[in-house]
Amino acid sequence: MPAQILDGKLIAQQMRLKLRVARDGLGPCPIRLVSVEVGQNPAAAVYVRNQQRAATEVGIEMEVRNLPVTTTEAQLVATIAELSGRADVAGILVQRPLPPGIDPRTVQSAIDPAKDVEGMHPANMGAILYREPSLPPCTAAAAQQLILATGRDLRGTETVVVGHSEIVGKPIAILLLHRLSTVTVCHIGTKHLIEHTRRADIVVVAVGKAGLVHGDMLKPGACVIDVGINQGADGRIVGDVDFASCREVAGFLTPVPGGVGPVTVAMLLRNTLRAAGATV
Ligand code: NAP
Repeated sequence: MPAQILDGKLIAQQMRLKLRVARDGLGPCPIRLVSVEVGQNPAAAVYVRNQQRAATEVGIEMEVRNLPVTTTEAQLVATIAELSGRADVAGILVQRPLPPGIDPRTVQSAIDPAKDVEGMHPANMGAILYREPSLPPCTAAAAQQLILATGRDLRGTETVVVGHSEIVGKPIAILLLHRLSTVTVCHIGTKHLIEHTRRADIVVVAVGKAGLVHGDMLKPGACVIDVGINQGADGRIVGDVDFASCREVAGFLTPVPGGVGPVTVAMLLRNTLRAAGATV
C-alpha cells in the first residue's frame, strides 16, 4: 500500500487557525515581526512573500527590512541591537543566506533571545538540551510536528536523522530524544547509510542532495520526513528523498514542496506569538 502523504499545507493551515485565535487573545495591540535581509536574493524573496502572507492571515504584522548588500557585519549587528531594544517588536528574523563576510552565528547571537523567533540564539539552542524550549528552531519543530501528526507514540521508536546541521539535524535529534525515541544521527562521515536507515521507524532527511534516500533504504512502514529543498533537473523543486520509490515502501511521507516548508512558516508565527506572550 503506498505511503500516506503527510500534507504540510493542510497541517499548517490548521495551525494558522489556532494561531489566529491565540493572536486575538492578545488584544488589539499590533504584534510585529521584523525580517532583516541583506542584499537581494530571489530564493529568499519567495520565502519572505510566503511568510508575509501567512503572518497576515494570523494577524501578525511582518515588516521587511532590506539592507544594502554592502552592509557590514557591524552594521547588521547594530540594526539587530536597535530592533531588540524596541518594545513594539515581538520577533526578529534574519533571512539567509547572508553575504560572505557576515557570520550568521554572530548575527544570531546579537538578537535578544526572547525575540529570537527562529530559535537559533545560543541560549535557545542550549536550552533545548534541558527540554523543548518555548522558542524551538522552526524547521526542527516542524519536522517533529509532522511526525506527531502520524499519531504514533515515539517512545521506543528508532529514529535516523540524516544530516547534522545546527538548524535542522542536531535540534530534531534532541527534540525526538526528549520523546524517548532512540536516535541515530548520520552525516558525511557515516560509512553505510543504508544500514542505519533500513532499521529506522522514523527517517528525517536534511542534507540538500536530491535522491539521497531511495525506497530500498527504508524499513517498510517507516515515517519519512523530507526536509531537503533542491532544484531538480527539470527546474522543479524536489527534496532529498526519491519520492516515487519511497512512497512504495514508507508508511508516511512528506512531499516537497508542501511538506516541511509550510509547517516551518507556521512554527515561525507560533514562536512570534509566544515571544509576544501568547500561550500557544
Ligand atoms: P546544511 O547546513 O548544508 O547541512 C547538511 C547536512 O548534511 C550536513 O550536516 C552535512 O554534513 C550532511 N551531509 C552532506 N552530505 C551527506 C551525505 N551524503 N550523507 C549524509 N549526510 C550528508 O543544510 P541544512 O541547512 O540543514 O539544510 C538541509 C536541507 O534542508 C537543504 O536542502 C535546505 O534547503 C533544506 N531546508 C529546508 C527547510 C524548510 O523549511 N523546508 C529549512 C531549512 C533547510 P557535513 O556538514 O559534515 O558536510
